[in-house]
Amino acid sequence: MNLNDNIKKILVTQEQIEKRCIELAKELDKDYCDKKPLILSLLKGSMPFTVELTKYMTIPLEYDYMRASSYHGGTVSCGNVAVSIMPSTNLQGRNILIIEDIIDTGTTLSTVVKILEELHPASIEIATLLDKPSRRIVADIKPKYVGFVIPDEFVVGFGLDYDELYRQLPYVGVLKEEVYKK
Ligand code: 5GP
Ligand code: MG
Repeated sequence: MNLNDNIKKILVTQEQIEKRCIELAKELDKDYCDKKPLILSLLKGSMPFTVELTKYMTIPLEYDYMRASSYHGGTVSCGNVAVSIMPSTNLQGRNILIIEDIIDTGTTLSTVVKILEELHPASIEIATLLDKPSRRIVADIKPKYVGFVIPDEFVVGFGLDYDELYRQLPYVGVLKEEVYKK
């Protein structure tokens, strides 16, 4: 079985992702010069974006990880977020850059930001590969660095999964309808 055969259309190509990551990395190098940012990757979906984005950065930086999952009642996010992995770094006084795969309603990130704020970092900003602003219900979540704004479609690839699969695809695409029915 080839996962690529289940993709109906490609929304963001591998080349587009690479080009955008180079642009964002340049911006981040400038904004975080002498700040040694803590690149806080939200597992599991942000792994490929974290690697692609930071490999073009040249300033000193550190990595850490956090895992927060939202419980979806059907297809609509109901707002319950569970944190299962916390960063091991002392966050006090650190400049945190949260790396996310996609912002949909904003519920997950809103909870993550609240938890991190209590640990007294110097700053918190968000970099997301994809943004679906039309679905936002948490108004105060404003990512400073956005790869691509996409329409309200369920996407997979470049970290994003359907039932834990498709994360390894080098592009972002939309699944064929019949895949959901299986
Ligand atoms: P939010 O809390 O912003 O509603 O949801 C964010 C999380 O929902 C993302 O981190 C991701 O795990 C999941 N999600 C939202 N939209 C999509 C999508 O189009 N495709 C996939 N695979 N996951 C999504
Ligand atoms: Mg996620």
